[in-house]
Amino acid sequence: MPSYDYDLFTIGAGSGGVRASRFASGFGARVGVAEERYLGGTCVNVGCIPKKLFSYAAHFAEDFEDAAGYGWTVGERSFDWQTLVRNKDTEINRLNGIYDRLLKAAGVDVFETRAEIVDPHTVRVGDKTVTTDKILVATGGWPVVPDIPGKELAITSNEAFYLDKLPEKIVIVGGGYIAVEFAGIFNGLGVDVSLIYRGPTFLRGFDDDVRHFLADEMRKKGVDLQFNQNIACIEERGDGFSAMLENGREIETGLVMYCTGRAPLSRGFGAEDAGVAMDDNGAIQVDDYFQTSVPSIYAIGDVIDRVQLTPVALEEGMALANTLFNDKPTVVDYDNIATAVFSNPNIGTVGLTELAAREKYGHLRIFASDFTPLKHTMTENAERTFMKLIVHRENDKVLGCHMVGPDAGEIVQGIGIAIKCGATKAHFDATIGVHPTLAEEFVTMREEIPDESEVDDAAAE
Ligand code: NDP
Repeated sequence: MPSYDYDLFTIGAGSGGVRASRFASGFGARVGVAEERYLGGTCVNVGCIPKKLFSYAAHFAEDFEDAAGYGWTVGERSFDWQTLVRNKDTEINRLNGIYDRLLKAAGVDVFETRAEIVDPHTVRVGDKTVTTDKILVATGGWPVVPDIPGKELAITSNEAFYLDKLPEKIVIVGGGYIAVEFAGIFNGLGVDVSLIYRGPTFLRGFDDDVRHFLADEMRKKGVDLQFNQNIACIEERGDGFSAMLENGREIETGLVMYCTGRAPLSRGFGAEDAGVAMDDNGAIQVDDYFQTSVPSIYAIGDVIDRVQLTPVALEEGMALANTLFNDKPTVVDYDNIATAVFSNPNIGTVGLTELAAREKYGHLRIFASDFTPLKHTMTENAERTFMKLIVHRENDKVLGCHMVGPDAGEIVQGIGIAIKCGATKAHFDATIGVHPTLAEEFVTMREEIPDESEVDDAAAE
């Protein structure tokens, strides 16, 4: 058996790469990891963590307003973007240090430099060459901007975290997680926001009621949502930009931000030359155990483009370490992944949308509720909360659970456990609520929404 410098060499120290490396080392493997950009990857540096910090910052605007209803007189308010960015950077630097220490404490060799695959068992790391039994590609993804004239004038989420100053107006293009989250952030921070989405309603793939409810709430908060629109080109105009829509209308703006998806970062470091098979969009093809078409090379996380979520990459990293170095072949279960969109208000969701459930199971039982949260009964805040349960008509299983409202992400985590355990509506009904909370509505919903598909069927008979 050939002797290699490492048992596993990981390229990319983001969520998935770090998890796999640490646990592989803990299981006794000799592990090296290379990172050319920032320890912690997208999530820690230009994703989940700084985004959530910005989202907290944005929420204060409404909190100050709401406080008046509770008798508070809030003094003069002002917001300093540079302070927010500086404090966020300090926190991110702290987290970078924690990742470094975690890896080193686990016995992993950390190389803060670029790595390239030379052959299936050799990696060039900076000016060094190392040999390894197995290679793990965990290089993540990168924002994609469509090829339109002036695309270089637009920013993406990568730059949004480091702006020198806030613009007075921003045009956000896209209708996915990042677009709606940043629309809420900039709106809360006092920027005039237009969100341009090419389809009829944003957040394709989410439950339709959730999509429409969030759109209404965002409009109430002053976000200009323009659906069925797209930008044809961008030009510089004075201090700002002009975004020309495909329908010929022009929008003057201080900044254009594209949130039109993220592509796998799989090319340019030797993977394709080593024979690693990829999809047309660059996603590395892997089997159930994350093995690529080259037996010694594995891949996890955004670069395989299964589900672009940090907790999924963590799970994949853990599964890989268990499979390769702990004698426990592990397959990741991608069903019923609870997720949150940190829009304002938040979305929390787990399981099937009504549409997907209907396609799979036909007739359903639907429960939904739309109400003013207790907190806002004493404020001028017109925000409402929406909750919905989708239930299998025959076996009573809760197939989907959706919420738009404060702390929806926090609430749906617990519901996610119940759904993973196969909870039925009867289980929900038998659960005594925590009073007074928003979450209790999930266990007190009794009024069934008439099933329109049955009405349609009856009409057709
Ligand atoms: P998404 O894939 O979620 O959304 C991309 C959006 O851009 C869609 O609305 C899509 O429209 C639109 N789009 C794509 N191509 C074009 C184009 N050529 N012209 C106009 N519009 C276009 O990507 P994001 O960038 O928002 O986020 C990337 C991923 O990161 C997410 O999928 C998510 O998995 C993850 N993420 C998770 C977060 C969380 O957990 N809270 C937060 C942020 C990101 P259409 O629907 O019509 O295809």
